[in-house]
Amino acid sequence: MIEIENVHKSFGALKVLKGIDLTVDKGEVVSVIGGSGSGKSTLLTCINGLEPIDEGRILVDGTEVHARSTDLNKLRRKIGIVFQQFNAFPHLTVLENVTLAPRKVKGMGRKEAEEIAVRQLEHVGLGDKIKVYPSRLSGGQQQRMAIARALAMSPDYMLFDEVTSALDPQLVGEVLDTLKLLADGGMTMICVTHEMRFAREVSDRVAFFDQGVMAEIGPPEQIFGEAKNEATRKFLSSVR
Ligand code: ATP
Ligand code: MG
Repeated sequence: MIEIENVHKSFGALKVLKGIDLTVDKGEVVSVIGGSGSGKSTLLTCINGLEPIDEGRILVDGTEVHARSTDLNKLRRKIGIVFQQFNAFPHLTVLENVTLAPRKVKGMGRKEAEEIAVRQLEHVGLGDKIKVYPSRLSGGQQQRMAIARALAMSPDYMLFDEVTSALDPQLVGEVLDTLKLLADGGMTMICVTHEMRFAREVSDRVAFFDQGVMAEIGPPEQIFGEAKNEATRKFLSSVR
């Protein structure tokens, strides 16, 4: 379970998160939508401790992310994160890209790491690409490799930050299908997304961010059908 309690975060004078409260249960899929600069990406980087917070707390399975005593490296093994732009190691094959973290961070042997990597690559539909270099992959395939790479660490949580927004439209579907598969498999996920159809069809709850505030959260039917908040309605009519 991820518990976000009254989280405030500023960059200098700029208040980016203004008291966020959100609990994500095991197996739940929460989509985060909202305008540019509303704090969506910042929230994800706070959850895995990449950014400090000014006030409040974030607990992952009861461990306080920003407590001084917390072993962040250990905590981060539980939390996979995939960004809009994937930085693959160009000199390593797809298989090597995916086995790198399990071997270096977890100290896993080559054979075991490769077995897991092949399984994850097959899972995302890249079983026939394990020997190629990332430059030979399409954008959608690179994003699926990024997802396999995160999954190879056997995380309990996955955070996705607009993983389809850098892709050509015809490649978006294959990546969303991968996310859907993961959601159907019971993964606990927070997905920052511009894909309203995905948010509507795959999420258990949709959170709308507006200028650092979580202005509204609820099941997709509520957010897309009968949003209570004026800003939510305005945002949705602008993206539809
Ligand atoms: P988008 O939809 O465009 O990705 P977002 O909701 O993800 O937007 P954030 O990336 O969380 O927005 O940024 C929120 C605000 O914080 C923005 O005004 C941004 O310029 C600012 N910001 C983000 N990261 C930093 C940083 N490292 N240093 C200073 N300001 C930052
Ligand atoms: Mg962002």
